[in-house]
Amino acid sequence: MHSKNKSAPTSGQRRSIERVKAMPCGVCGAAGPSEAHELRQGLWHTAIPLCPDCHRGGFNGIHGQQRIWKVKKLDELAVLDKTIAAVMEAA
Ligand SMILES: [Zn+2]
Ligand SMILES: [Zn+2]
Repeated sequence: MHSKNKSAPTSGQRRSIERVKAMPCGVCGAAGPSEAHELRQGLWHTAIPLCPDCHRGGFNGIHGQQRIWKVKKLDELAVLDKTIAAVMEAA
């Protein structure tokens, strides 16, 4: 998940990541804290909140077979859109 050549987040980026992690899972709605999954490594503002199963689960996870993502008809961009909306509305 964390590669060595990835630069550390700035304090502003860290705040935004903490806000994302406090949200419920963007796929199944499981209560937070969630894990932050970046759509692209190092692009901190593309992070979305995922529960461990929707994130890393071999069956349901985005890094696995993505079954629940298909059931919910969601992809990373759709969850990012929801995440940005929630951050904007909370601001
Ligand atoms: Zn989930
Ligand atoms: Zn991830």
